[in-house]
Amino acid sequence: KHYGGRRDPISWATGKPAINIRALNGVSFEVRRGETLGLIGESGCGKSTLGRTLLRLHEPTSGRVVFNGTDITALKPDALKAMRRDMQIIFQDPYASLNPRRTVADIIGLPLMLHGLASNRRDMRDRVAAIMDKVGLKANHLDRYPHQFSGGQRQRIGIARALISNPQFIVCDEPVSALDVSIQAQIIELLTSLKREMGLTYLFVSHDISVIGYLSDRVAVMYLGEIVEMGPVEAVLSNPRHPYTQSLMSAVPDVDHPGKRQRVRLTGDLPSPQNPPPGCKFHTRCPLAIDLCRKEAPPRHEAGNGHTVSCHLINDELSILR
Ligand code: SF4
Ligand code: MG
Repeated sequence: KHYGGRRDPISWATGKPAINIRALNGVSFEVRRGETLGLIGESGCGKSTLGRTLLRLHEPTSGRVVFNGTDITALKPDALKAMRRDMQIIFQDPYASLNPRRTVADIIGLPLMLHGLASNRRDMRDRVAAIMDKVGLKANHLDRYPHQFSGGQRQRIGIARALISNPQFIVCDEPVSALDVSIQAQIIELLTSLKREMGLTYLFVSHDISVIGYLSDRVAVMYLGEIVEMGPVEAVLSNPRHPYTQSLMSAVPDVDHPGKRQRVRLTGDLPSPQNPPPGCKFHTRCPLAIDLCRKEAPPRHEAGNGHTVSCHLINDELSILR
């Protein structure tokens, strides 16, 4: 779908209008209450699109998103707006997602006003001050503007804005990728403790395996708009079964056995999502590809314990890792 206009939440947040490409295909999964589902893959694989589609910030052309038993893809604007109280997003670039001409009180308090959750401005400001305190910002900085804060503080503003309506589910879309490494750990700790305190559920989108490994209960691996492997974090990251996941893991240094892990370099470029290859979409770069892979998309196999893998060779126990 094409979104025009500055007021649109997506173009406003990313600085560019969304274009209509087939970014996701046959993606089917669930996020369980109270868990962190990590979503990992290269940039451009459709991770952010998936996160935004769950909140209907992108309109899917087909398919359903069911939240607490309600199909949100069928909701009328008013009902969708009410649902948004419970589903929020934290963006990658805290600066681009904060309106530079508004004070933090107005930015963080906006969801309260939109949803009629504050009785008046005084009430709104009190609650903004309380949530600022909770995310580690000075409550007396209420009337400052985004540019008066550091990158890490701006992300805390983004987190406060997402949390002020007391939501249940948060899409964290690469929330630490734009930050200095020294700040990343602080924000990750903050998100972890807020989750515990507020009983939140996260979909945590990242291209950083160490971040995903640290935070997630379960992991989904995405390649060209499809989930190719999914399961409990230990199973997927210590025993990756899909050749793509294996190649991702081979790039991570093995601290227990330094120098032992073979680095698998994928050949070829990431194909264009507008024109994905037929059959298994990974076949143009997969070291194990056979003829069948070029013709037929692999089914999703159960590898035990809720670990699923979409590869024709799953039962052959083949690996590109040595
Ligand atoms: Fe590689 Fe074939 Fe498996 Fe795809 S289905 S990951 S091309 S072996
Ligand atoms: Mg992204």
